[in-house]
Amino acid sequence: MASNHYEVIIVGLGAAGVAAASTLARAGRRVLALEAQGRVGGRVHSVPFGEGIVELGAEWVHGEEDNTVYEQAVKHNFPLVPQGVDLITYRSDGSKPDQDVQELINVLVEQQQCDEMELPDTPGRFGEHVANHVKQYIKEKKPELLDDEDFMEQMMDFINLLVNNHNASNDWNDVNALDKYTPLDGYLYLSWHKYGFKTFFDILLNTHNNGPGWPTLDIELNKEVTQIDWPQDYKDKVTVTCKDGSVYTAQSTIVTVSVGVLKERHTNLFKPKLPEVKINAIERISIGVMDKILLSFDEVWWPLDSAFVGFLWRGEDKKKVPKESFWTTRIFAASRPMGSKNVLTFWTSGEIGKLVEILPEDKVKRECRQLLQKFMGADIQVPEPSGIIRSTWFTNPYTRGSYTFDSVACAPYPNSRTDLAAPLTDSSGRPRVLFAGEATDETHFSTVHGAAETGYREASKLIRNSQI
Ligand SMILES: Cc1cc2nc3c(=O)[nH]c(=O)nc-3n(C[C@H](O)[C@H](O)[C@H](O)COP(=O)(O)OP(=O)(O)OC[C@H]3O[C@@H](n4cnc5c(N)ncnc54)[C@H](O)[C@@H]3O)c2cc1C
Repeated sequence: MASNHYEVIIVGLGAAGVAAASTLARAGRRVLALEAQGRVGGRVHSVPFGEGIVELGAEWVHGEEDNTVYEQAVKHNFPLVPQGVDLITYRSDGSKPDQDVQELINVLVEQQQCDEMELPDTPGRFGEHVANHVKQYIKEKKPELLDDEDFMEQMMDFINLLVNNHNASNDWNDVNALDKYTPLDGYLYLSWHKYGFKTFFDILLNTHNNGPGWPTLDIELNKEVTQIDWPQDYKDKVTVTCKDGSVYTAQSTIVTVSVGVLKERHTNLFKPKLPEVKINAIERISIGVMDKILLSFDEVWWPLDSAFVGFLWRGEDKKKVPKESFWTTRIFAASRPMGSKNVLTFWTSGEIGKLVEILPEDKVKRECRQLLQKFMGADIQVPEPSGIIRSTWFTNPYTRGSYTFDSVACAPYPNSRTDLAAPLTDSSGRPRVLFAGEATDETHFSTVHGAAETGYREASKLIRNSQI
């Protein structure tokens, strides 16, 4: 057998690819994993910054029950640390709302962050649903606030941004109120803190604690796949070609690249072209943008007990913000990452997230500091940040977005994720190109545990059917 022939080729080494590769390798299959970037992890990217480690991509393990990420951490003695989603709100004139208003905002934030709000049973605009809920809640708890038009308008904007950060959407009304995402039981915000989320990949690849890896798994980094030829005849092989000209063959391949990448490349990536039903699914599933800006400081200056600090604008202050700095009004909060104590993370999303990715770094750093000064600086001179780092999930050609969400636009096509997940088969009906990745999971899309489960799912399909 030629050395460039494998039983299975995995395209992409994010959570789905690593889960698939390790499952197959543990079963003794000869596997090649091709990853376009110079690192493993995909949309999980832990980097040293400030005094510790920060996450440019996935930050938290969402839930414990039946969560493969949680289970692996526990099994290998990496204690995950719960982080609260509590928030202290500052206003743009440097004041803080009264305690009872703070508490009210906190409850509304927690309901969104923890998917606790009751959902309707028909599709519709999530924003309208949330706005009604917020009004109703305020009416019950503090009805006089309903007469404060400016507060109500800015409060709605604030929750809109929060919803967008949660879903990677551009506007809360882009999200389907009847979204199929199902939270797992257990604590929903667990952090890998000083270990970094990357540890999950070391565990799966058997390289943590200087482990030897898997003997039948070959990993090639900086290997961008440019073409996948999939056979119609059951006797033929799958041929995978890379940008550097290298060519590999296999019985089957599992493609784990994001829907953002598929949208941009599917026409050239697959030969023959994908069936119509698959193309429709790729075009219909929405992938959005959620990005982070992280600032480090020489020392911790913030007087915060809470995990988040929320920026609640006043209409008149917002109007004074120059057009070129409008993006700063679309950052709903900053938070304290658990792996690096002298760092603050600012959260952006949607079209503004895309814009912030390409603004000059100095401008982003300067204006984020000014934002802190405006909101938190009544009694404090906010120091110059010592460093900045930010994510670029949309600009990155190997992700082209942060994660998928159930959109209003996709609501008429409820089978899109199943269609995306369906394998391409040859003349004998054998699956030859299989699809994994967060977008292919009906109920746990947009997460690392969901992505990993899809990798196990496709690898198990091949092992179970002994078709490799
Ligand atoms: C900012 C942000 C915050 C998030 N927060 C959380 C969180 O707190 N908790 C949570 O559970 N999830 C979170 N997520 C979502 C989670 O990170 C993703 O759902 C998950 O990591 C996706 O894994 P995947 O394997 O499906 O895709 P990816 O991680 O995108 O893996 C696909 C891989 O394919 C590679 N690739 C692309 N094109 C090619 C090519 N042509 N050839 C070869 N390789 C290629 C890519 O480089 C990548 O490594 C967050 C994501 C982002 C961006």
